[in-house]
Amino acid sequence: MRPVRFNIHPKEAKLNDSLMVTELPEGHTGEGFFATSLDKVVGLARKNSIWPLPFATSCCGIEFMATMGSHYDLARFGSERVGFSPRQCDLLMVMGTIAKKMGPVLRQVYLQMAEPRWVIAVGACASSGGIFDSYSVLQGIDQIIPVDVYVPGCPPRPEAIIDGVLKIQDLVHNESLRRRNSDHYKALLNSYGIE
Ligand code: SF4
Repeated sequence: MRPVRFNIHPKEAKLNDSLMVTELPEGHTGEGFFATSLDKVVGLARKNSIWPLPFATSCCGIEFMATMGSHYDLARFGSERVGFSPRQCDLLMVMGTIAKKMGPVLRQVYLQMAEPRWVIAVGACASSGGIFDSYSVLQGIDQIIPVDVYVPGCPPRPEAIIDGVLKIQDLVHNESLRRRNSDHYKALLNSYGIE
């Protein structure tokens, strides 16, 4: 095996001091210790490690590609691990026109995701059917699955998509660990016919 050659001597290498460490959760600190609640630590970890599943059917998907590119770089928010396996992802991003025939497929993808899971409707089509007020187009994905955040626009710019992800991060950060077992949440899922 050939030895690795450095252009910079390791002793001259500098740390990148423009990186910011995420803020500490609320808690109590003292000499050599920091104490906080489990909710806050789990919320902090989940918020900064969201795995999005892009469900892109049309033009809004192109905006998402730009959002993932180097200029907008969604990775800055810890969401660069895009996955296409529902069982490993926790954020369903629906981007584009959803035809009624596609509805059951989208619903199945949602059902295959493990709890806790969140949903963003990106763009007018996913949110409300958009300009396609026709017999074949679903007039909003919230007719078949619950939605946490709506991003308006036709298409929304990458900044708006990033804003939607930041809103999801706020929800994730502040969500109680008990919410998914609450009667309120079960009633929400039941209203969609989900056990
Ligand atoms: S909201 Fe506009 S840009 Fe997005 S999928 Fe619909 S028609 Fe295309």
